Amino acid sequence: MDRRSDISGFHELPPKKRLELVKSFADLTKEEAKLLEKTGALDGITADMMIENVVGTTELPFGIATNFLINGKDYLIPMVIEEPSVVAAASFAAKLARPAGGFTTTSTDPIMIGQVQLVNVKNPDKAARDIVSKKQEIIDYANEVDPCVLVKFGGGLKDIETRVISTPTGKMVIVHLLVDCRDAMGANAVNTLAETLAPTFENISGGKARLKIISNLADRRIARARAVWKKEVLEQAAKGAFRGDDIVNGIIEAWAFAFSDPYRAATHNKGIMNGIDAVVMATGNDWRAIEAGAHAYASIKGRYSPLTKYSKDKNGDLVGEIEIPAVVGLVGGATKTHPVAKVAVKILGVKSANELGEVIASVGLAQNFAALRALSTEGLQKGHMRLHARNIAVMAGAAGKEIDTIAAQMVEEKKIRVDRAKEILEDIKRK
Ligand code: NAD
Repeated sequence: MDRRSDISGFHELPPKKRLELVKSFADLTKEEAKLLEKTGALDGITADMMIENVVGTTELPFGIATNFLINGKDYLIPMVIEEPSVVAAASFAAKLARPAGGFTTTSTDPIMIGQVQLVNVKNPDKAARDIVSKKQEIIDYANEVDPCVLVKFGGGLKDIETRVISTPTGKMVIVHLLVDCRDAMGANAVNTLAETLAPTFENISGGKARLKIISNLADRRIARARAVWKKEVLEQAAKGAFRGDDIVNGIIEAWAFAFSDPYRAATHNKGIMNGIDAVVMATGNDWRAIEAGAHAYASIKGRYSPLTKYSKDKNGDLVGEIEIPAVVGLVGGATKTHPVAKVAVKILGVKSANELGEVIASVGLAQNFAALRALSTEGLQKGHMRLHARNIAVMAGAAGKEIDTIAAQMVEEKKIRVDRAKEILEDIKRK
């Protein structure tokens, strides 16, 4: 099969047919495809090894966003999420970005920061300077011992920085370990290294090392994505309801609103995380880690801000950009233990944590574009309501074909409520 992600009519196919296409796109084996098809793919023994006090497992839908072209390569994007419309919106945004070449991305080295907190230091400024003056020795020692086994994968401790901070309990020296984690998200690895080096910092500073832990504000591990949405493409997709330049202006004004108002920025970024978290969940990564990093990064300039930026190029087309801390890995955590996460990574076809970070940045940008386009033109609810109505119909007890019939009627009547769904269901049953 042609490895293209713009599979026309994908959303209209039954799940079995969609899975066949994904299987062929990603060369999945029969067994791998079966894992996605059958419920309960995470067996009790594996689950019991993953966390404590396990009594069972739960499940969420696993969808595929289509149309993603990133740096000239086609991707099918696995997304695990309970919210309707997210997968459709991401696929739609990626489709509209294709005529201008899709997404282009870059990223920094995968550097995470480990923090060692030193308290009771008599001369904090001197201690901070002393630690920095001995940093090469400490780096050489750390990479020689390599307690978190990163050096052999091309990573390891790269640099040491210090900060002196004033706190409610007095001054502290904070040591930052800049660790290249390669394909690991790195929390366990960095924590191990911080614990290993803490006595060295105690010796140099004469203070006591308390916390030794990774920082989720991963501002040295950044993924960036950019896409252009041509105004003619936007106009065409709006089927004449809106002018292309009006859509472009609407999206830029929506971004400007978020730029200047944290109440809006919070929701703007929530929309970005709809896409990012869904891929992070599908690949077995830690979504609290990426969430914490994203929101802290959004505040890094002292004011909570949007993670994306929109402008117009010389043709009047829309340029979207995103910058996020890419706190994700391909080894460690559940990425290598959860059977479905492994299949998700295979479908994505990413070969490094950096590539995964760039993919999630692209998905976050796509998701945000889709939300802003809908919000600044026809409003969110129009597209959302049919899916929402289906959920309401299921809540009212509908099954099979009844679901779509009831949903369609509620959308038509603009009354999407469980009580109305129950009435229609009773009508259907009576007939
Ligand atoms: P890990 O320790 O399970 O795996 C990382 C290890 O994999 C490395 O130390 C290395 O030895 C090995 N490895 C094999 N191939 C590698 C390669 N190509 N590149 C790099 N390393 C390679 O996991 P981790 O990534 O250190 O930690 C992630 C876990 O930590 C997640 O489960 C997360 O939930 C958890 N965690 C997060 C936080 C936080 O975000 N604040 C805190 C504590 C723990």
